[in-house]
Amino acid sequence: MNLLLSSEHLKAEALRLGFFAVGLSPAEPLSAERVAQREAWLQEGFHGEMAYLERNEDKRRDPRLLVEGVRTIVSVAMNYNTLTPEAAATDHIPIARYARGRDYHDVMKARLNEWLVDLADTYGAASLEGARAFVDTAPVDERYWAWRGGLGWIGKNRQLIIPGAGSYFFLGELFLPLPADRYDTPVPNRCGNCTRCLTACPAQALSERGLDARRCLSYLTIEYRGSELPKGVGRQMGEMFYGCDRCSTCCPWNRRAQPTTEAAFYPSEELQQMTLDDWRTLSVETYQRLFKGSAVKRAKYAGLQRNIAALSEAEEDETP
Ligand code: SF4
Ligand code: SF4
Repeated sequence: MNLLLSSEHLKAEALRLGFFAVGLSPAEPLSAERVAQREAWLQEGFHGEMAYLERNEDKRRDPRLLVEGVRTIVSVAMNYNTLTPEAAATDHIPIARYARGRDYHDVMKARLNEWLVDLADTYGAASLEGARAFVDTAPVDERYWAWRGGLGWIGKNRQLIIPGAGSYFFLGELFLPLPADRYDTPVPNRCGNCTRCLTACPAQALSERGLDARRCLSYLTIEYRGSELPKGVGRQMGEMFYGCDRCSTCCPWNRRAQPTTEAAFYPSEELQQMTLDDWRTLSVETYQRLFKGSAVKRAKYAGLQRNIAALSEAEEDETP
């Protein structure tokens, strides 16, 4: 008898483990439409210096080349929003919402690996041999799989939007070597005529052709490795020097975004108390303490200093 994963059981377990949403897809190649979108995006050079997005494209297009024998992809979303809609109005932490607490890679990977152990108990270790958990660290088109698994749609801001819950979610996947008794169906795009994110972007990084990372403040303040930010970027940054949430905060689907129950994603008291002067005089020791186990370390100390220095570009404009 062929063993089948129970969709109902998997979904109940995902919720028990603290995931907000879960969906199942058959492990098949990406749709022709998605492949064409990716090809056009790469050809435009919209990925900037993120050369890793060009590599292993064959595996990204066909998950069976990444994990031999995979039959089912389980996509999960974990809420990282730490602000109520009211608190968001007076929020002043100059770091993107997703990066204020513990590094999501660690939190989600640990949760997914715990799940794999439970699944091996349920279905038998031999049946689950080769199963893998991924969180943003392998050539996996996460938003596509979340869409394909029925979690939400990919908005014009290029984020996965969950109906009624918004886009403040981390995504992760289990690649499982068993077929499931039921797969989910994709959610239709509900952006409609809205173009708020395109207008709200201070860098004109968003268009119908996708996200041009080379212009995006999130890319420039986190991924870009130049010793100085390109001229004019400081003016666009406002007060944020790590990431940029503007194409999320403006999205009407985030108006009712509820705060997460994951304590790990909340900022420390010390981070909340930091003033602009504190940031300008940030020492290596304070940096190490504030961002121990945090995704902010991706920009490194020198990168943060570079970003903080760029804030004065806007102030220079205001000097009479
Ligand atoms: S993160 Fe900021 S700069 Fe990047 S696309 Fe969104 S609004 Fe534009
Ligand atoms: S702001 Fe509007 S267009 Fe942009 S992602 Fe949200 S709903 Fe879609």
